[in-house]
Amino acid sequence: MEKQVDYIIFGQGIAGTVLAYTLIKNGKKVHIVDDNSISACSRVAAGNFNPIVFKRLVKSWMADELIPFADHFYRECEQFLNQKFYWKKEIVKIFAEENERDFWLKKSSDESVSNYLSKNIESEFFPDIIHNPLGATFVKGAANLFVSKYLDDFRNYFIKNGLLSSEKFDYQNVFLNSSGVNYKNIQAKKLIFCEGYKIMDNPFFNWIPLKPAKGEVITVKIKNLPTDKIINKGVYMLPIGDDLFIVGTTYDWNNLNDEPTEKARNEIAEKLSKVLKVPFEIVDQQAGVRPSVNDRRPAIGLHPEHTSLGVFNGMGTKGVMLSPYFSEHFYLHLEKGTSLDKEVNISRFQK
Ligand SMILES: Cc1cc2nc3c(=O)[nH]c(=O)nc-3n(C[C@H](O)[C@H](O)[C@H](O)COP(=O)(O)OP(=O)(O)OC[C@H]3O[C@@H](n4cnc5c(N)ncnc54)[C@H](O)[C@@H]3O)c2cc1C
Repeated sequence: MEKQVDYIIFGQGIAGTVLAYTLIKNGKKVHIVDDNSISACSRVAAGNFNPIVFKRLVKSWMADELIPFADHFYRECEQFLNQKFYWKKEIVKIFAEENERDFWLKKSSDESVSNYLSKNIESEFFPDIIHNPLGATFVKGAANLFVSKYLDDFRNYFIKNGLLSSEKFDYQNVFLNSSGVNYKNIQAKKLIFCEGYKIMDNPFFNWIPLKPAKGEVITVKIKNLPTDKIINKGVYMLPIGDDLFIVGTTYDWNNLNDEPTEKARNEIAEKLSKVLKVPFEIVDQQAGVRPSVNDRRPAIGLHPEHTSLGVFNGMGTKGVMLSPYFSEHFYLHLEKGTSLDKEVNISRFQK
């Protein structure tokens, strides 16, 4: 028997999951297709959101809008599922050079970013474990989503409620018709593609100019470091409990696969050994491919000819921070007819 829904969502990474929940909470019927193994990107993500671009000490794009929205959104998801996967977490910035510290102090009085940059410099931050002769400070407003738990908890909810088919998606089974779109035994008004960098294989949307970047992280065991702060000094160290820290990351634009490499492991471990005074043990390593667009903005919208097909993708390096705000933005466009922001609308790629 045919199942009727408002939306089929293809992909249950962070983008597809956040969009599915946004539609469900607004009373829409959804069905998700994802086999949970084709792209590991969201499951590898550290899940940090950082309001600051460290190199230039400027505000991250739309941080003032995205962060409060995401903060409220993930707390609401926790209540909806009765689970815990979201925490506010300070980012401790350890200075590597004197001019870096001087620049920070100057910028911490600059109105455009001062609400995110602490003015306090701590001369000693875990000095027995961390090399920090120049002191440390912290970023305010940062947070962390335990992404793999978030995805698993939602996956369980979707499966329990018959809303998810755990299988490989086959583009050849997409049929457009007068009521919208049909996929296997499901009829929907619209099908939204959220398959991460695999959109490059999508016959309807392969014209979106992706510039995917593989990234790797290692998990290390380090004793006696704080468990409520993300430490940053060239690499980030995210505490995940039991003295374990996720440390990353790398960028590779050529080898687009989820295979961990020795080269990346050595690169991260070398940077970490410059931060720590103590030895560490590597216990795991993971890789994923970020769905970045060449202009580093999300790619959202409906197909120019087949308006029952849409895309919610291009979250790049910031899927955790971007997806909540833009899923609401897309929902309002789809259901209330509001316009999409030009910076994220896929119409920007059409000549
Ligand atoms: C090392 C690393 C660290 C990162 N750290 C952060 C961070 O700290 N903060 C942050 O905000 N972002 C971070 N990111 C970026 C973030 O991971 C991405 O922005 C985000 O995961 C993109 O999510 P997505 O749902 O678009 O894609 P994906 O996560 O790739 O999801 C796509 C889904 O579609 C499924 N799929 C694809 N093709 C098929 C098919 N044919 N059939 C069935 N299923 C299919 C996949 O299995 C997957 O479940 C990091 C990325 C990497 C690699």
